[in-house]
Amino acid sequence: MKSPKLLVLVAVVLLGGAFFALGGHQYVTFENIKGQVTAVQSYYQSHVLETVAGYFILYVLMAALSLPGAVPMTLIGGAIFGLLWGTVIVSFASTIGATLAFLVSRFLLRDWVQQKFGQHLRAINDGVEKEGGFYLFTLRLIPAVPFFVINVVMGLTPIRVRTFYWVSQVGMLAGTIVFVNAGTQLAAISSPSGILSPVLIGSFVLLGIFPLIAKRIVDAVKARRVYARWSGSKPSAYDRNLIVIGAGSAGLVASYIAAVVKAKVTLIERHLMGGDCLNTGCVPSKALIKSARVLATIRRAKEYGLKSASAEFDFADVMERVQRVVRAVEPHDSAERYTGLGVECLDGDAKIVSPWEVEAKLKSGETRRLTTRAIVIAAGARPFVPPIPGIEQMDCLTSDTIWGLRSLPARLVVLGGGPIGSELAQSFARFGSKVTQVEMLPRLLPREDPEFSEMVARRFREEGVDVLTGHKAKQFLVEDGRKVLVCEREGHDVRIEFDALLCAVGRVANTKGYGLEELGIGVSKARTVETNEFLQTIYPNIYACGDVAGPYQFTHTAAHQAWYASVNALFGTFKKFRADYSVIPWATFTDPEVARVGLNELEAKERKIAYEVSVFGIDDLDRAIADGEAHGLVKVLTVPGKDRILGVTIAGDHAGDIIVEFVAAMRHGFGLNKILGTIHIYPTLAEANKYAAGVWKKAHAPVGVLNKLEKFHAWRRGRGTQPASESTQLGST
Ligand SMILES: Cc1cc2nc3c(=O)[nH]c(=O)nc-3n(C[C@H](O)[C@H](O)[C@H](O)COP(=O)(O)OP(=O)(O)OC[C@H]3O[C@@H](n4cnc5c(N)ncnc54)[C@H](O)[C@@H]3O)c2cc1C
Repeated sequence: MKSPKLLVLVAVVLLGGAFFALGGHQYVTFENIKGQVTAVQSYYQSHVLETVAGYFILYVLMAALSLPGAVPMTLIGGAIFGLLWGTVIVSFASTIGATLAFLVSRFLLRDWVQQKFGQHLRAINDGVEKEGGFYLFTLRLIPAVPFFVINVVMGLTPIRVRTFYWVSQVGMLAGTIVFVNAGTQLAAISSPSGILSPVLIGSFVLLGIFPLIAKRIVDAVKARRVYARWSGSKPSAYDRNLIVIGAGSAGLVASYIAAVVKAKVTLIERHLMGGDCLNTGCVPSKALIKSARVLATIRRAKEYGLKSASAEFDFADVMERVQRVVRAVEPHDSAERYTGLGVECLDGDAKIVSPWEVEAKLKSGETRRLTTRAIVIAAGARPFVPPIPGIEQMDCLTSDTIWGLRSLPARLVVLGGGPIGSELAQSFARFGSKVTQVEMLPRLLPREDPEFSEMVARRFREEGVDVLTGHKAKQFLVEDGRKVLVCEREGHDVRIEFDALLCAVGRVANTKGYGLEELGIGVSKARTVETNEFLQTIYPNIYACGDVAGPYQFTHTAAHQAWYASVNALFGTFKKFRADYSVIPWATFTDPEVARVGLNELEAKERKIAYEVSVFGIDDLDRAIADGEAHGLVKVLTVPGKDRILGVTIAGDHAGDIIVEFVAAMRHGFGLNKILGTIHIYPTLAEANKYAAGVWKKAHAPVGVLNKLEKFHAWRRGRGTQPASESTQLGST
């Protein structure tokens, strides 16, 4: 423990110890105080200031040190100072004391508690950050919750000191008045328990839940206010239960769920069913990656014992195959399939014209105004093209347009070192483009731990990609008909000539042009549609999910959110579900693949969460060796001393597939011991998971027991307790 903390701890222990050693706990009993009250009252008559100051300091100290005696002290306050002054003095003394106890708890314990239980406390922390005042007020009003417990526990949460102080002062006021008033009648009271009658306790409980009821009322009033200006357009009956805008991953799942539960649902798509994932995202990119990988494997034919193998290809054929793959997957997301499932699919542009009405401009030329009880916005995102001077003259390719290429660019600049930029940079390099990948930050895949970025960058460089990290694109020029990118690196200009530019620096949510502005639905700092934890916008019947809502931009998170959005939209009147982001996996499909679930070291450090690391190198895995893919890592973060998984990153062949075991473990709460105790098929890549668990187990082996066993076996061999060789050193990570 750091020295200031030690000092505070010592002070608290010494003062608390002194209180008990000097018999304070026997002194501040109800009976004792009742016996002493007359003497104190007469002292007060002659020494007003000294009595007030002494009483005040004593009260503050007792509260700050969480010592017993708050009730007797309050009673005596009433007996000495009367109702008015007693209430004033006790109110301030108890609140200041409570705030000091809160600060002591925060100073000594909060970091430790948050580090140890941070993952579990996330929901509580978020709740307290948003509505801590409400919770505290409720607790303060309910006399069954001890005063000192509230002080200490609240100190561990993120509630602000100022909020704690004033909410405590206001929240405790009613109780203070009751006890101070009782103190004015001290002679007539036989025990403190008699002060609170069941009726009074009931009233306090009602007062306690009042803030929560008030919150519901405030929410209802807010909702009424946002709906107020639309009162004229509220239909008396609705044509539909749900309208979904956008038929990408989010919209398809939202409408599917609605149809399954027999709601009348309409799905409106203005472009292509399947959205980005099918048409310009996951599916074409994975198809392209596969062709590029086949080519890269053929080039390594000798490594596989083949004398020679070569591949002739036409890039246009590769891109046609990509389209064939898209067409093969298309039926899964088609209007025919969804119509068959009970979803009304409309081909056109949707605009929300009131909280219950959507106007659909159909491709047939017809415009229809549809009424609905609820709306799910699933309008997705689009590539962001940064306003770098000159970029507008570059015919910049994006993930939307690159699929139209039929000839391979000789020199390709890929702007962006994130997943999309990296997947495409490697693929194009494998087909033979001279690829320069430009990233402003110091590493590729900057969300991942540095060793994974390094692993990917090393492979890229080996394959001929010019990886320029720490390069900031400054300007695009055309010089003598040649395209040039000027980057800034450590104060110097770096010039890159190229033939084609792919911009992959991020994606922005589609928030304009379909009614959000008119309805006043806000956009967050991340430029996504603003929603609450139930995915509701400011209109409780309008929800958003997928890329348009964020914070993640994956197909599986879009589908995950879509469940919450549609279920809440259809059944939220009875029960609403908070979107759960506790275990979100993802993968970047470079070679090596990099997959992650939960925390990595970067995030654990940033959030001050204590962890242990176990690493297994896939270069040592039989199947990876047999496959000629002996590279990569499984890196597992666990709670110190426990097998509970905080997060896993895997780099290597099929990392996105093999990580699923850890995703299941985190989701369903089983740890590394259970993974180690599971039979994994030999020889598979998934065995890497078991071996990573084994690394953890070895580091936590019971060394003492094993040493004793060694001696036991030596003894059984008839060699006394002398080990056969030098005692085994158990490895650790
Ligand atoms: C190159 C690339 C590779 C990717 N690879 C992966 C991957 O491997 N794995 C993964 O999980 N994710 C991947 N993603 C991300 C994934 O594609 C998206 O997260 C996912 O498509 C989001 O789905 P969505 O439904 O929110 O949005 P979208 O798929 O964008 O769908 C939104 C739909 O709404 C429609 N729309 C918008 N406004 C209106 C309107 N007013 N009226 C009617 N229709 C409207 C749009 O036309 C669009 O079809 C990739 C993305 C890209 C670009």
